[in-house]
Amino acid sequence: MQAMAKKQEKSKKDAKTEVETEATGMNCIFCKILDGIIPARKFYEDDTAIAFLDINPASPGHSLVVPRHHFKTIADGTQEIIAGTFVAVKNVAELVKTRMNCDGLNIMVNQGRDAGQVIEHFHVHVVPRYKGDNIHIIPPDRKMSDEKLDEILDKLK
Ligand code: 5GP
Ligand code: ZN
Repeated sequence: MQAMAKKQEKSKKDAKTEVETEATGMNCIFCKILDGIIPARKFYEDDTAIAFLDINPASPGHSLVVPRHHFKTIADGTQEIIAGTFVAVKNVAELVKTRMNCDGLNIMVNQGRDAGQVIEHFHVHVVPRYKGDNIHIIPPDRKMSDEKLDEILDKLK
């Protein structure tokens, strides 16, 4: 009987999780910024995306380009929205480069928790780089054998 009650309790919990997952957009910080519920230092917008300053910037001018639609991964967005978002990324990158007079930019997406995605609303980081800024976000170089590289190529072709 107790086991039954526990099972019912668990399935209630699962149901709750499902509802919360479906409503992610409503609990999403970036959706709230898009809706004007949470303030942000917005400096760019077009039909597809907006851009604002990251609240904890890696460097001065670190910006986030955020599509107006809520979706988590690049696979979840339509081709049109992904294309439009990257047009916004180009515009924002040029704007940031010119106005911040930086020496370079890292333009990147963290997808999935293991890759560092914290906010589950697709976004592109535009991080200005300044000579000697001592930021380490470039992927490490690692040696790999020709056999292993060919094996991977076979998987991708
Ligand atoms: P992620 O790790 O998901 O790729 O990046 C999320 C980014 O959003 C982080 O760099 C974090 O500093 C930024 N962020 C989180 N919450 C807020 C917020 O409320 N406002 C702004 N402007 N940025 C935020
Ligand atoms: Zn969202």
